[in-house]
Formats: sequence, C-alpha cells, structure tokens
Amino acid sequence: MFSLLLSITPAEPNRTAKPACHACSQPAGALRPAQVCSRPAGSPPHLIDDSRRNRYFTSMKVYTLGEEVLREKAVPVAEITDEIRTLISDMFVQMKLSDGIGLAAPQIGKSLRLFVVQADDDVERAFINPQIIETSTELCSYEEGCLSVPKYYEEVVRPERITVQALNERGRRFTLEADGLLARVIQHEYDHLDGILFIDRIAPDKKDKIVHKFREKAEKEQKKAEKTATKDS
Ligand SMILES: [Zn+2]
Repeated sequence: MFSLLLSITPAEPNRTAKPACHACSQPAGALRPAQVCSRPAGSPPHLIDDSRRNRYFTSMKVYTLGEEVLREKAVPVAEITDEIRTLISDMFVQMKLSDGIGLAAPQIGKSLRLFVVQADDDVERAFINPQIIETSTELCSYEEGCLSVPKYYEEVVRPERITVQALNERGRRFTLEADGLLARVIQHEYDHLDGILFIDRIAPDKKDKIVHKFREKAEKEQKKAEKTATKDS
C-alpha cells in the first residue's frame, strides 16, 4: 500500500472570494491546465509508444450520450487477469488518441469498475474497483468536458480534495490523496462507473439543451443511414 500526496500547492484560502482550487485559480489570462477529458490547445501531445499505436489503425468506439452502457452501474472487476491488463493498456492508448486525460471502462462499452487517468503530473494511473473514501468540505468549480459528450463544456462544482482507494493493474491496493486537476478527473471518471455524466451535475436547463442537441444529431444520423441503406438496396 502506498500513499501519495500531490505536491500541488493549493490556493491561499480566501473566504470572501468564490471557492478556488488548483484547477480553477490560475491567474487571469494564464493557460488553464486542461479541461477534463481534453487537453488545452497548444499543449504538447501525449507520447504514444509506436508499438502500442500500431495496433490502433481503427480505434475503439467511444460511446456517447444516449447509449445505454453509459447509464448502467458498472460491476466490480472479479479478477485482474491478463485480459484486464490488456484492456487497461488499450484504454490508455485510446485515451491519448482521443486527447483525453481520463477514460472509464463504460465509455468503451465495458460495464466494469475501472478507469485510467493521466492528468497534470503526467503519471499513468489505473484504478480498479475504486472507492472514494474521503472528500473535502471545500468545493470548487471547474469547466468540464467529456469524451462521451463531445464538444460541450460546463462548470461543475465538486469537492476540491479527495482520498481514493483502488487496486492497480498488479492487484496491489493503494491509497491516493489528490487535489487540483487530478482530484477533478478522478471524480469525473468515478461518476462514469455509477452511470453519472457531468451533465447530471449542471443546471437542468443547460442539461436539457445538451440532451436535446444530441437527440437531434442522433435522429439526423439515423435518417442519413436509412437513406444510404435505401440507395444501396
Ligand atoms: Zn467523461
């Protein structure tokens, strides 16, 4: 078991200002660290080992809003087999190809309690059967996005710091105390395991707008596919 406290210095508490955290307290005009699930423009791309990338001429499907698997409560991983380790490795590659900083198994159609993260400290971390065992009372707001709800970003309020326990890909239990962007991504990915999307944590009218646009887009795509099928027959 190991415990890691990130060396990110939290903002000085200021009771009169709106709640701040490492992720949302950058000086005005500074490049924000990253929106959850997408890297900031101009930042260096993820490095992907060529031997891993070569397996990905056709990448995994990332499921998007409206698909059932994103709303299911995922089941615990019963045993950490080579198959699970390969899945984790594949998820890291897919996350990087999608320019993400976190990816949960339900997003690629696997209803398992497992996610991968590579946030601001650039360490690849896999979380198997994770449990958030502590959250700070201090909250902070940060703009989130999601590979499963592409192109939409909204401010989401969450605890600033968390403690999470999980198994790594070698089956070792670890405890991680996190703040800043890492805490944000872990909470976002953890939600995916319970069928929760970031849009469930925003104002209902904003959520309705996004859901409506997704439905419209899905209907258009279905009509287009039907037309193509009629032409081909
Ligand atoms: Zn997401």
